[in-house]
Amino acid sequence: MSNTPNIIDGLHVASLVRDEVRCDVNDWLAAGNRPPKLQVILVGANQASKVYVGAKTRACNEVGIESETIVLPDTTSEKILKERIQELNNDDSVDGILVQLPLPSHMTPLAVIESIDYRKDVDGFHPMNVGRLTIGQPCYRSCTPAGIMHLLKHYSLSPRSKHVVVVGASNIVGSPAAIMLSRENDEGKATTTICHKYTKDLTLHTISADMVIVAAGVPGLITGQMIKEGAIVVDVGMNRIPDPTTERGYRLVGDCDYDSVAEKASWITPVPGGVGPMTVAMLMKNTLLAAKKAVYPD
Ligand code: NAD
Repeated sequence: MSNTPNIIDGLHVASLVRDEVRCDVNDWLAAGNRPPKLQVILVGANQASKVYVGAKTRACNEVGIESETIVLPDTTSEKILKERIQELNNDDSVDGILVQLPLPSHMTPLAVIESIDYRKDVDGFHPMNVGRLTIGQPCYRSCTPAGIMHLLKHYSLSPRSKHVVVVGASNIVGSPAAIMLSRENDEGKATTTICHKYTKDLTLHTISADMVIVAAGVPGLITGQMIKEGAIVVDVGMNRIPDPTTERGYRLVGDCDYDSVAEKASWITPVPGGVGPMTVAMLMKNTLLAAKKAVYPD
């Protein structure tokens, strides 16, 4: 008999988050404050990065956050980039600073991220924010895992006491997601296993999981045979697959083989329309927090 999982609808939930931010921004303006401002830096002409920056700019416009994008050529030196960041750190009219990743290969991403004032690091990538996350202190939480936590909460899919397997251990998705899911004093409270490319037998772990969060960047990595009946599956993957039948010449797929996983899962995120829109919505939330100095008061 075929199984029909419940859909975790990121498009819908993200629009609710943006509505909430828009109302909060209106209240903030009505109280006599200037609009929150997000400063984006885009280095180089990576096509996917341009698309992501466009989505962030549109979301800012929608919720009443001012946004400005500095576009630098991909030959820009790390020194020049850091100088531009320093100017923004010192600019009181800028609340949030976001350097779009990936950076050109001659740059060290962590060194660039560390040059952002952590009080303006609305992406939540600065070691100060990551460190504070791990010990449960107020911080900017990385937008994608924060978006996953928000989705789970919206659908009352509590990770508490569940066995959650996170596939992928990057600094921006897998690792912070595992921290948020496992902290016993915050909303997570899950027993969490982190898998990565060195994991010997991935199925051994995923098959026993009540919830699987996949952020590996490998299309079709997780199949139905690898998950247990009734598992909750969150697919973070966003992979461009060449597809000459589409206008853009590609289509987006996740890290799960959707059809076979849907046969087993009780809940599942579609790709696109799952985690992706949440990332941008959480960025709007973080930028408003920055304007209000709610995380790091003066
Ligand atoms: P990354 O390349 O930095 O990290 C990938 C992680 O997956 C690594 O820890 C690696 O060890 C692990 N991995 C790779 N192959 C594996 C395998 N065969 N088995 C188990 N683990 C494996 O990637 P990232 O930046 O974390 O992104 C992961 C995916 O999520 C990508 O598809 C990316 O496009 C997507 N993403 C989506 C959003 C969003 O908003 N939805 C945001 C960020 C990233």
